Amino acid sequence: MPELPEAEAARQRIERGALNRTIEEITLGEVSHMDLPDEDDRARLIGTQFTRTHRHGKYIFAGSKDGPWLHIHLGMAGSIRVLDASQDLPDYVRFSVHFEGGSVLHFRDPRKFGHIELIEDVDDFVSEKGLGPDALTIGDNAFSQSVGATKGAVKSALLSQKKLAGVGNLWADEALYRSGIAPDARAVDLSPDRVRNLHKAVLETLQAVVDTGASYEKLPQEWLIHHREAGDACTICDGTIDKKTVGGRTSYFCPNHQKTA
Ligand SMILES: [Zn+2]
Repeated sequence: MPELPEAEAARQRIERGALNRTIEEITLGEVSHMDLPDEDDRARLIGTQFTRTHRHGKYIFAGSKDGPWLHIHLGMAGSIRVLDASQDLPDYVRFSVHFEGGSVLHFRDPRKFGHIELIEDVDDFVSEKGLGPDALTIGDNAFSQSVGATKGAVKSALLSQKKLAGVGNLWADEALYRSGIAPDARAVDLSPDRVRNLHKAVLETLQAVVDTGASYEKLPQEWLIHHREAGDACTICDGTIDKKTVGGRTSYFCPNHQKTA
């Protein structure tokens, strides 16, 4: 399922390939049951340009100084491609923005759980959704105040989009593994140093995944993502990977080096 790194990779593709070009046409693929801009909203974009992008957690935005923003949510399996009009159309294209000069921004979505809409203001959108600070840009103090002050399991705090926007199951497990903290540790029981280490691990994990363009196979072999199986050997100590349900999600961790306090 796409998480923050996929959303950031998609934002970067839009930033690199789709800014400052006049929108000439918007076309739809097979879109039954999908939530996409209606005819009036699509017409509003014709003749305008995207001049900037933004991302908050898993939410992606492309907009201009005065006009509306296009909000793109990747859902379970969505992705963005910016291609030349002469290139073959990818599979499962649901929504395409055609620019002057021949480049086209495609939204692919095999499973149709993604959606696209026009919104007027990104800050209003973020506050209406009740999203916490973005996980890639949150500062140390804000991280300590939101995640570090949680009375429940630290993993649940990492996954709470109200405390921290953009961390999903895989990268919460990876950051906890890297920082030696058990997923079910009570966040308030962790020392300030351990909370700072966790924040650093969250940032390093997300940034490294973003740097691969969210291609998981390019991540180092010692990462937990390649060892998500109970009984697998820990790559950090002599322990063995175990699994446990925390906050309703399956967590993989090493009980030998990941401690509760
Ligand atoms: Zn270990």
